[in-house]
Amino acid sequence: MLSYDKELELKQKRVESLLDGLVPCVEPIIRSPQKEYYRNKVHAAFGMDGKKIIYGTYKEGTHKIIPEGGKLLENKKASAIIASIAKLASEYRMTIYDERSRRGFLRRVLVRTADGTGEILVVLVVTDFMFPGKKNFVKKLTGLHPEITSIVMNINRRTDSMILGDKSETIYGRGFIVDELLGLKFRISCESFYQINHDQCENLYSKALEYAAFSKEDSIIDAYCGTGTIGIYASKFCGKVTGVELNSKAVADAQENIHKNAIKNVRVIKGDATEFMKVAAIRHEKYEGVILDPPREGTTPEFVESCKTLCPSKIVYISCNPETLARDLRLFLKAGFKGIKATPVDMFPGVEQHVETVVLLAKQ
Ligand code: SAH
Repeated sequence: MLSYDKELELKQKRVESLLDGLVPCVEPIIRSPQKEYYRNKVHAAFGMDGKKIIYGTYKEGTHKIIPEGGKLLENKKASAIIASIAKLASEYRMTIYDERSRRGFLRRVLVRTADGTGEILVVLVVTDFMFPGKKNFVKKLTGLHPEITSIVMNINRRTDSMILGDKSETIYGRGFIVDELLGLKFRISCESFYQINHDQCENLYSKALEYAAFSKEDSIIDAYCGTGTIGIYASKFCGKVTGVELNSKAVADAQENIHKNAIKNVRVIKGDATEFMKVAAIRHEKYEGVILDPPREGTTPEFVESCKTLCPSKIVYISCNPETLARDLRLFLKAGFKGIKATPVDMFPGVEQHVETVVLLAKQ
């Protein structure tokens, strides 16, 4: 209900107050180029309301489906595809999964759109690969939405709240999207993390690299690197990049992305970022810069301790959670670094509680 300016003001104030005493200069928040329909990853949970198929987002903290929930933020083509699948589901006799009885076929639909290339990946999260009308369903859906470039079936029989299961089968196209970001091409599989606001992601990475101001002699670490997006972009400005990532699908995407962009100075290691840092510190490896972009939980005290030993001249922390950011910055300050400046980046317009922040730290 807030005006966009008011929303940005609140986000700015929140970051300023959390970083108070930790970073001397918080620059003005970067506005999102798109305020609506920016989400390039859309998922809808499917359920039944009596005999009617319903789909939408879960009400926070529950598994109650809010039909049409989140629509204002979601890519319009993705929303239209999901609406078509809901209509086709009964025609193709797909049963809808019921969480209580654990029976039924279709659980969720996830759609990923690549704003830079127009590619669209549809993931049907189901309980079985067996689906008698598969061929016809694919034909019908791609006939209705020729913009779909790939369809994947993902098997999820789990009882926890994980969206995707471990096994996937591509039933149409290549099984991933390729997007273009900052003039580079990136392959993104359905299991890999990808920033959800394309244009603002370009602003975020540009700000991070502007803060880092790397030189061609610098050897740097891209911790929590996902599909290698930041490291591959950074490789233009520095000597060598080592990416570290835990998710093996994302690592495979990153390897492919290094190859796709004909990059020679980036390597990606599969593993836990903290473990990698600990080993690098024991071996006294030399890195001039560290970029870290951890999940919402932030990083670990051991990661920060290892930075103390490795002693890079600058650290750029990209965070999607200002609370864990502030907690981790306290550790960095104790470990001999100082906060130089920070910029909040509005990656999630309309979602008041989420704000991204880029912070530059240097040796004290
Ligand atoms: N920098 C990337 C990804 C950021 S999201 C981008 O901008 O796209 C955070 C990433 O950290 C995810 O890819 C997640 O799989 C990875 N991750 C989570 N825990 C990790 C850990 N302990 N060690 C290494 N990577 C981890």
